[in-house]
Amino acid sequence: MTNRLVLVGPPGAGKGTQAVGLAEKLGIPHISTGDLFREHIRDSTPLGAEVKRYLDSGGLVPDSVTNEMVRERIGEDDAKDGFLLDGFPRNTAQADVLGEILGQDGAGLDAVIELKADEDELVKRLLARGRTDDTEDVIRHRQRVYREETAPLLDYYTDRLISVDGVGEVDEVSQRVLDALSARP
Ligand code: AMP
Repeated sequence: MTNRLVLVGPPGAGKGTQAVGLAEKLGIPHISTGDLFREHIRDSTPLGAEVKRYLDSGGLVPDSVTNEMVRERIGEDDAKDGFLLDGFPRNTAQADVLGEILGQDGAGLDAVIELKADEDELVKRLLARGRTDDTEDVIRHRQRVYREETAPLLDYYTDRLISVDGVGEVDEVSQRVLDALSARP
């Protein structure tokens, strides 16, 4: 069975942390578009210069830029038999492109994992994290973007959606995800 997986959840739900641990346990690469963008910014690449203002404001980087970056990354050898996407797709247009990249003939996505968590709890966690795009205004903006742009993916992927309670210790939550994945028919 392939493990082509997507992790979705509101900002602060612990997606990044969960993604690292899950990808390692499942033996698949962790592909985080946020991390890829941050690496470009850190390395001062042209792409980094182009995307910095979107990350700083909490808005989405234009789909054309994001989709091409993901297309390349998924085309690399280590992603042949599976991957865990973290932060992509962020809207249904990106999901359409992902479907097209993977092909729908049995090679599409295997599961979409939703981490659920309460919004007040999330704001608290994010403020404690202290990343440069973690000011309260930017956090609020990222949450609105999630509600408006990303949450529709839960309907888009309803046939392969696995919803997991994201509140709890890191190991506890990843065990819930692993259990839910192995309970798939
Ligand atoms: P994250 O690390 O997933 O919280 O992403 C940090 C920031 O990177 C977001 O606020 C966006 O500005 C940008 N970003 C990450 N993934 C995407 C994506 N799939 N589409 C557009 N922008 C993205």
